[in-house]
Amino acid sequence: MNANAASAVMPAFKVDVPIPKPPCELSIEEKQHYRQRVKQQLVAHNAVLVAHYYTDPEIQTLAEETGGCVADSLEMARFGAEHSADTLIVAGVKFMGETAKILSPEKRILMPTLDATCSLDLGCPEKEFAEFCDAHPDRVVVVYANTSAAVKARADYVVTSSIAVELIEHLDSLGKKIIWAPDRHLGRYVKQQTHADVLLWQGECVVHDEFNAKALLQAKAIFPEAAILVHPESPASVVKLADAVGSTSQLIKAAKSLPNKQLIVATDKGIFYKMQQQVPEKELIIAPTAGEGATCRSCAHCPWMKMNSLVALAEAFDIKSAEKVNEIHVEESVRLKALIPLNRMLEFSRTLSA
Ligand code: SF4
Repeated sequence: MNANAASAVMPAFKVDVPIPKPPCELSIEEKQHYRQRVKQQLVAHNAVLVAHYYTDPEIQTLAEETGGCVADSLEMARFGAEHSADTLIVAGVKFMGETAKILSPEKRILMPTLDATCSLDLGCPEKEFAEFCDAHPDRVVVVYANTSAAVKARADYVVTSSIAVELIEHLDSLGKKIIWAPDRHLGRYVKQQTHADVLLWQGECVVHDEFNAKALLQAKAIFPEAAILVHPESPASVVKLADAVGSTSQLIKAAKSLPNKQLIVATDKGIFYKMQQQVPEKELIIAPTAGEGATCRSCAHCPWMKMNSLVALAEAFDIKSAEKVNEIHVEESVRLKALIPLNRMLEFSRTLSA
């Protein structure tokens, strides 16, 4: 890609990958068996389970019952780095396992499956992204946590949605021009909030991109008293209808602080498990997606997060056979480069909470 090509508006980076099939349903007895097996394995391997809000409720329950954590990607990274376990088992998608390895190289990082990826990560290939950055050398490179270790290694800052507005505001106050990647919706939202000079990569999340303003208005007509909570990876027309916009953790807080008894929630429905714990008296409603004619992408649940099944989790420790390797490895030269922007993110988030 030459400089002129890179200066043009980036085309939407559509990811055309087969959506994985959901794992098989288990009987109650089978679930019990695998739950027990995971618990035994965690003890035997001095391991701790770190799960994302978007995993299935049974995985989140296990993490809570075994002294692990259920959190957003920023908190997962912090928890894993500070925990004394020898092994972290990361239930989420691959970039989360890589982030854990970058921050904790001395630990063994296992995942239920390394095939659990993310459309944002896939939509921001290392080579094309490096060319894009090279074409704009005057800009600070800020990448969302949902990127590969190699893309992080090319960045000046890593950021999560929970601190994105604050970080871009900070960089803008220093007079910096910015490249933002990969999520175009979140990038546009951050740009609108901060009025900073931000050049956007055009990636998208296959789950949030499906939320639909027309269908959301119809849902609001059915539940007129409900507040609308929206993750900013959703399209602008959906964000515009929101009573609260924020990261997963921020939406859980908003669910508590808003007075409404009904909440329409536009993010992955995996979040309902922790949100409902916080607001047991409230009714949580999944925001509608593309509705009629919608594809299997339109179920408000990440198909890659869903790959973190109980069976895959129980088998993650079994790395005896060559084709069954669930351990995360990050090349040391890449790790050291990616560590710099990740540490900047952690340092910046500490200044916000100080
Ligand atoms: S929900 Fe979207 S952003 Fe999150 S892992 Fe899945 S594809 Fe990626």
